[in-house]
Amino acid sequence: MTTELGRLIARRIALTGPISIADFMAEALGHPRLGYYRHAMPVGAAGDFTTAPEISQMFGELLGAWLAERWLAMGRPRPVRLVELGPGRATLMADALRATRGVAGFHAAIDLHLVEINDRLRAVQRTALGDINATWHAHFEDVPSGPMLLVANEFFDALPVRQFEKTSRGWAERMVGLEDDGETLRFALAPGATPYAALLADAPAGAQAEISEAGRVIAAAIGVRLRQHGGWALIVDYGYARGTHGASLQAVRGHRGASVLDRPGETDLSAHVDFSALAETTGMPTFGPVGQGEFLQRLGIMQRAETLKARADEAARGAIDAALARLIGPDQMGTLFRVLAVGDSRSAAPAGFPDSPSDAT
Ligand code: SAH
Repeated sequence: MTTELGRLIARRIALTGPISIADFMAEALGHPRLGYYRHAMPVGAAGDFTTAPEISQMFGELLGAWLAERWLAMGRPRPVRLVELGPGRATLMADALRATRGVAGFHAAIDLHLVEINDRLRAVQRTALGDINATWHAHFEDVPSGPMLLVANEFFDALPVRQFEKTSRGWAERMVGLEDDGETLRFALAPGATPYAALLADAPAGAQAEISEAGRVIAAAIGVRLRQHGGWALIVDYGYARGTHGASLQAVRGHRGASVLDRPGETDLSAHVDFSALAETTGMPTFGPVGQGEFLQRLGIMQRAETLKARADEAARGAIDAALARLIGPDQMGTLFRVLAVGDSRSAAPAGFPDSPSDAT
């Protein structure tokens, strides 16, 4: 049995012909009433997946310290737009702000902007932030201009991707069409070669690749802001550093793998982030991506864990160690998750990164 949204998508395809996977994802995740990210509670034990800030307060605290340090390096602009894309339960932001209360002048300078399309999550965010003022937007472009500090954790993986397959005729786009019953969604290869081939590296027949136009549009807009008004962006996500990576689009429902075309609107869809495409599209100096484990260790997560353990009982100490292992373990989130900084200057590497800017720009 499909969903109401599945039937709407099938009807659209019956009328207009097969649609791109990106168009399918845009409907499945963003349909104003039925899209997954419009109404679901995706993050947390009761949701479909868990994220770094939900694993441990250390994540948000250390990212908060990074943001405050960048604010000092920018010359303490007041106001500074502090922007988060896709804040989820606002756990990262609440931890970041609590950890930086002692940075003289920082909180007084912050003008907080949250980019979120999910009304239920907006309500959770409002509660999590307590008496901290924030303004919500549906699009990054609506955030007022000015010097900016931006953070995005597991946001870019939620944006639509196109998928391609290398055939004997060149790169062809994978589409979503219908079975003969006229109702059931299925994958199908577009007949001709795709004009997107110009953006794809050469690869042997059978290879697969993805492009996120939505991700590039936002990365470009972030780059323009940083160039015009100064500031920094920190992007954390799972993905690959360079080159094409095959087909990574995956579906998750209730912490388990699901099939991409089943139950649109009730299933989380995400794809690995192409960090070199994001970095290049910003047109600004970038640092990294470095593995999340390396980044957090450079920011002092080991010391932070020790401090927390010193005032914890035995059970809590075990939980802190387990969270640490999940965040930095190479077989867990430590290397699959990567961190990219985009900045307004090439002068010095921000905390957490090796010394020189990446050569992507
Ligand atoms: N950053 C949070 C949540 C990650 S889940 C964390 O780390 O826990 C992805 C978040 O992005 C959710 O808050 C979701 O509602 C939001 N989101 C997804 N697509 C979006 C879009 N197109 N525009 C704005 N927010 C979006």
